[in-house]
Amino acid sequence: MNGKIGLEEHFAIEQTLQDSSGFLADDCWTELSARLMDIHDRRLREMDANGMEMMILSLNAPAVQAILDRHKADEIARRANDFLAEQVARRPDRFQAFAALPMQDVDLATRELERCMKELGFKGALVNGFSQLDTPDNCLYYDAPQYAAFWAQAEALDAPFYLHPRNPIPAWSQIYQGHPWLMGPTWAFGQETAVHALRLMASGLFDRHPGLKIILGHMGEGLPYSIWRVDNRNGWVDAPKAYPAKKPLAEYLQQNFWLTTSGNFRTQTLIDAMLEVGADRILFSTDWPFENVDHAAQWFDAASISEADRLKIGRTNAVNLFKLKL
Ligand code: MN
Repeated sequence: MNGKIGLEEHFAIEQTLQDSSGFLADDCWTELSARLMDIHDRRLREMDANGMEMMILSLNAPAVQAILDRHKADEIARRANDFLAEQVARRPDRFQAFAALPMQDVDLATRELERCMKELGFKGALVNGFSQLDTPDNCLYYDAPQYAAFWAQAEALDAPFYLHPRNPIPAWSQIYQGHPWLMGPTWAFGQETAVHALRLMASGLFDRHPGLKIILGHMGEGLPYSIWRVDNRNGWVDAPKAYPAKKPLAEYLQQNFWLTTSGNFRTQTLIDAMLEVGADRILFSTDWPFENVDHAAQWFDAASISEADRLKIGRTNAVNLFKLKL
C-alpha cells in the first residue's frame, strides 16, 4: 500500500553513532553507519520505492540513556533534538520527530520534553530503556516515584512515549554470560523492554495518569503473547495481587499501549497482537536502518489481514495518534 507511516526509524549524530557499532557484524558497519547518518538521500529513496510516505525519526540507541553525567546527557539530547528539528523543517511532509530525553534527571527530561513538544513541534518522545546515572550500574527505571512529575507532564502534553529497547548491563545479565548471541534484537532487547513495561503497568502509573500513551516496538516485545499468563498464573489460588495497580495488567496493555511492527515482520505474530489489543493499536514501522524498509513493506503489503486493517495499521492509526496533518 502507498502512504505508509513508520515510527521506529532511527538516525544518529556524530556523538552517538558509535553506540550502534557491535550490534551487527563488523563488515556491515560501513553500510550501517552510512544509513544512520543519512536522512534526505538513501532514506527517502527507500521510502519512495516502498510506499512509505513518512517516518517519525528518533535517535539511535542507547545514546542519551547511557551517558552517566546528567548534564552531558541533557546536552547531547538537546543537540540531537535541535539537529532533528532542522531536518524535519526541510521535509515536514516526509519526516516528523520524536524527542531524545535525559531521563537521568527528571527536571531536565521534563523540560526537554516540553521544549520539544511546544517549541520544536515534535510528536512525542522515544527513550532507550533505563537510564544510567553517575555509575554504570545505577540503572533508573521509570516506574520509580521520582518520575511522577515527568509522567504528569507527558500526559498534560499528550506526548506519546516510545519505550525503545537497550541491552541490560553486564552486572544485571548473568543469564546471558557466555552467550553473547542472545543480546540485542535476538532476545535481550525484548526481555529487557517487556519487563520495564510490566513495571510501569504494575506500578499504578496508568491509574494515576489514564491518558498516558506508551508505544512498544517489535510487535509488543512478546507481551501480547504472554500477558494472559501474567494476569492468570495459578488461577486456582485466591491470593491478593502483589503490586499497586488497580486493574489486571492486560487492561493497561489494551488501554495505554500502542504496538509497532518494527523488526518483527511475521503475520502469525501480527494476528496474535491484533487478537490481544486490536487493529486500532498497532502501527507499521520498519526499524530502519537496522532492518530493511523493503523487507518490512513487502511483508506488510501482502500480509493476510483485511484491507481495512491494513489501512489502519499502515497509516491512519499514526495519523490519529500523532494528529498528523497530511
Ligand atoms: Mn529500533
